[in-house]
Amino acid sequence: MARDAGQASHVRFVLPARCTLDFPRRGCNLSFSAIGLMGTSCQIAGCHNDTPPALAERRFCVLHFTLTLETSCSEMRRETALGNAPQERLREIMKFITENGECLARVATSGLHLTDDLKARILSTFLTLMNLRENLDRSNMRSSFGRSGHIR
Ligand SMILES: [Zn+2]
Repeated sequence: MARDAGQASHVRFVLPARCTLDFPRRGCNLSFSAIGLMGTSCQIAGCHNDTPPALAERRFCVLHFTLTLETSCSEMRRETALGNAPQERLREIMKFITENGECLARVATSGLHLTDDLKARILSTFLTLMNLRENLDRSNMRSSFGRSGHIR
């Protein structure tokens, strides 16, 4: 490092978003804001909304969390509507519904400041989850009626 230091005439710092390079009067501090390090901005490109703590793991803002949930639900609903999804898949979907329902409930009740629009969106996402769950039960019933071993 000492050898290179002599040659370094130009030092350039490339700063990731939300990272500040701070030069106080005596010394140099490179400080990262906790937010930047934890990557708690929404993972959707172009979205600059922050991720609430309840969604930190998923790196979604509330809006995009509900939107991706809606999309996944409608795909799963199509799968289950055909009535030929294997039991294993139905169990997976069941797990998806409970996990995301719980997560959504946490978001909704964590004291975040939510606009009326977002509140309405959260409620309709709950409804989507509930309807999917209902579909699943129907689909489950169908496959246990035809209990011949092969899935129809
Ligand atoms: Zn977002």
